[in-house]
Amino acid sequence: MSDKPHQNLAVIGHVDHGKSTMVGRLLFETGSVPEHVIEQHREEAEEKGKGGFEFAYVMDNLAEERERGVTIDIAHQEFDTDEYYFTIVDCPGHRDFVKNMITGASQADNAVLVVAADDGVAPQTQEHVFLSKTLGINELIIAVNKMDVVDYSEDKYEAVKDEVSKLLKQVNFKSDDATFVPTSAFEGDNVSEQSDNTPWYDGPTLLEALNDLEAPEPPTDADLRLPIQDVYTISGIGTVPVGRVETGTLNVGDNVSFQPSDVGGEVKTVEMHHEEVPKAEPGDNVGFNVRGIGKDDIRRGDVCGPADNPPKVADTFTARIVVMQHPSVITAGYTPVFHAHTAQVACTIESIDAKINPSTGEVAEENPDFIKSGDAAKVTVRPQKPLSIEPAGEIPELGSFAIRDMGQTVAAGQVLEVNE
Ligand code: GDP
Repeated sequence: MSDKPHQNLAVIGHVDHGKSTMVGRLLFETGSVPEHVIEQHREEAEEKGKGGFEFAYVMDNLAEERERGVTIDIAHQEFDTDEYYFTIVDCPGHRDFVKNMITGASQADNAVLVVAADDGVAPQTQEHVFLSKTLGINELIIAVNKMDVVDYSEDKYEAVKDEVSKLLKQVNFKSDDATFVPTSAFEGDNVSEQSDNTPWYDGPTLLEALNDLEAPEPPTDADLRLPIQDVYTISGIGTVPVGRVETGTLNVGDNVSFQPSDVGGEVKTVEMHHEEVPKAEPGDNVGFNVRGIGKDDIRRGDVCGPADNPPKVADTFTARIVVMQHPSVITAGYTPVFHAHTAQVACTIESIDAKINPSTGEVAEENPDFIKSGDAAKVTVRPQKPLSIEPAGEIPELGSFAIRDMGQTVAAGQVLEVNE
């Protein structure tokens, strides 16, 4: 399975449009339901004297795991198609999506956008599409879901398709590249098999569309960048930072540096899926151990890189941001929390350097007094605590951020230049 190219897949869309159901359906139909879920079900089924394996059971169980708060950040759900091995970055709730999208754990390559046929484009559909674009999702597959609810109406499907296409154009997604599939996650229509309920549709099933995605270019040539999600102490090993390799490779024997904590040492062991491995590549979720590094020396939000080209730490940085939803206006001096990879740091917008036309990227106004929802701007930012961040043009994986305030994402952006 792991011989195939790997893709991180986000499942996005408005609440209740069927994201979780679709994830369950994908795992179920590809035979990828986690072993422990199947085991548990077998036992329960035997006790009750029932056989079979029901989709509904999978759903209950996935929901339960989520409620128990099992470390979703690293407990990924996985399935494969002929071409690819997918890790689902499941985004059950709106806030989780925003958080997951901007933490290294869940940087997705591509996304399935679930839009309920009976509801059409809803506020979070818009926001997620917008964020996907800003945060570097390459391609979208749109599942026009709950087709069973609208009696598998072709007209309804076409209407939703038009509505979503308009939205994609607005945010500059190449809508010609987007693949639309009429689905019912609940009934299983057009997920792995062509449905008889949609005789008017002759496009790919959802799994075929996933299989047809372009392979993401593995950024192995770049230097190592590995944002730290958590730091554990494991008996017999010692301090074990965990995180996802964003770029480059992590090898046993490498000399690494953690920034901004500014400590480093030699990599002693690298572990993946509970097994020791000699090296880890982009997309791999790893735990590793570095000689001489204790639990209090490093923290979530640090980025690990090679000692001879350590991750940058920004004194200030310039960025292009887009304001999504702010109740009033943003002026110089505003200090919300920036979420970049696994870090959350309060940063001051020191100056608003220019207002930018969001669709052309041209300067619309120099040094505006304020910006508001819908505006794009070039700003200069000063982190209030050390923050490791990189220009998006150099290391895209480390150059995106979201700005959160008052419990919501007010803006998202990309780093242009870092002044160390
Ligand atoms: P999420 O909030 O986007 O993750 O949505 P859920 O997957 O939790 O689904 C919300 C509700 O819609 C649940 O009651 C699902 O059973 C139902 N649902 C999801 N997909 C479909 C579908 O294709 N058809 C029908 N009829 N119901 C669906």
